[in-house]
Amino acid sequence: MLHLYNTLTRKKQEFSPIQKNKVGLYACGPTVYNFAHIGNLRTYVFEDILKRVLKYNKYDINHVMNITDVGHLTDDADTGEDKMEKGSKREGKTAWEIAEFYTQAFKSDMADLNLLEPNIWCKATDHIEEQTAQVQTLIDKGFTYETSDGIYFDTTKLDDYGKLANLQNQNLQAGERVDMGEKKNPHDFALWKFSHKDETRQMEWKAFGHKGFPGWHIECSAMATKYLGQHFDIHCGGIDHIAVHHTNEIAQAEASSGIKPWVNVWMHGEFLLIGEDKMAKSDGNFITLETLKTRDLSPLAYRYLLLQAHYRKQLNFSWEALESAENGLKNLRHLVSQIPKHAASDPYICEQFLQAINDDLNIPEVLAILWTALKNHQIDLEMIIEFDKVLGLKLHDLNKKEIEVSLEMQDLLDARKQAREEKDYAKSDELRDKIASLGFQVEDTNGGQKITNL
Ligand code: AMP
Ligand code: ZN
Repeated sequence: MLHLYNTLTRKKQEFSPIQKNKVGLYACGPTVYNFAHIGNLRTYVFEDILKRVLKYNKYDINHVMNITDVGHLTDDADTGEDKMEKGSKREGKTAWEIAEFYTQAFKSDMADLNLLEPNIWCKATDHIEEQTAQVQTLIDKGFTYETSDGIYFDTTKLDDYGKLANLQNQNLQAGERVDMGEKKNPHDFALWKFSHKDETRQMEWKAFGHKGFPGWHIECSAMATKYLGQHFDIHCGGIDHIAVHHTNEIAQAEASSGIKPWVNVWMHGEFLLIGEDKMAKSDGNFITLETLKTRDLSPLAYRYLLLQAHYRKQLNFSWEALESAENGLKNLRHLVSQIPKHAASDPYICEQFLQAINDDLNIPEVLAILWTALKNHQIDLEMIIEFDKVLGLKLHDLNKKEIEVSLEMQDLLDARKQAREEKDYAKSDELRDKIASLGFQVEDTNGGQKITNL
């Protein structure tokens, strides 16, 4: 029985899909004006684990991820520059080129981290019609007002506005913490922004009598509704999305459809910190997957580091921690490479594994079970493959380099090479059998001995 923590109810609950065996899953995707930093990627690794656990529980998943390629402003309070236009100025390319380049970079990061691809990718700029249609519905239903710079959602028109973040109990006064501009209430937010008269934007569309562009929140509510409907199972993102982005997505979707709840389960991944601060694109503490690679550290070692912390706990990044994760992963693979072919799994291991993944994705516990089982010889390769369906660490997928670094294997290969040089074929065959008993096949090629998994 799968249990997941739901931000909306603030409880761990048994997961129960709307349609038998099916899950509609929406994950807020990247804003493609720069590389993703490893903090952003922590959120996508958490979502990947969620997806793998759902898959392991035999759900048929429709996973939708958006690409934010317009409308995300540098300030959450609907002021500031569009991040895409900012990227364009920084690099002297068009906003469209920036979006394309960083979308590809993000997809390549996903592949490096062994993240499963969504079933549907959707770009905000390809869905302007769906967004303006949702804004029009909100206008028709009386949830909006217009100022000199855009169309805004009047949050006082919804009696449960802010339920996700429990904002009702936070008593925010107009003008107290936010720059109100012409907004009527502190939480009101832009649905459609008008382009400045003295500025030519690269990305703008004519709607509601003005050239302009969509607000960041409307893109997710319009696209998630288009692909997953007016009521679906799970929506997720990083913890910073709770108070503004997801709160506003709920307001738009529920006000326009009249159906509540829009989404049954909201899930949020905690932050990656560096020092005392969260890692952020705008700060100097921005580390990418490329930075890791230039230090000879592998993306999968970073994935392994992340899996050691529960997704709802903050994690402090340090180079030392990543280096020990790199070694930890190597040791783990080495132990896996030593599992004899005739090994058998203890059924209790499988039970413990299922319990841990279904307890709100308790992956640190899964790793502890795995290490103990390996050390006590209680696990076979078949079960390793099952674990790895969720962990995604390519544990069983040993490449040649990793096989060659196994000390025991290297000794056997050296001895076999010597036996062949001495034309002691009986000994060479005996060593071949020994290597086979460890699960590998040795071949003699022009380039020397090559080993592969049996
Ligand atoms: P963005 O590309 O800025 O829209 O962010 C992409 C995802 O990364 C969102 O789900 C954010 O919540 C998440 N995120 C941003 N900073 C961090 C961080 N330091 N640690 C974990 N997740 C983060
Ligand atoms: Zn979103």
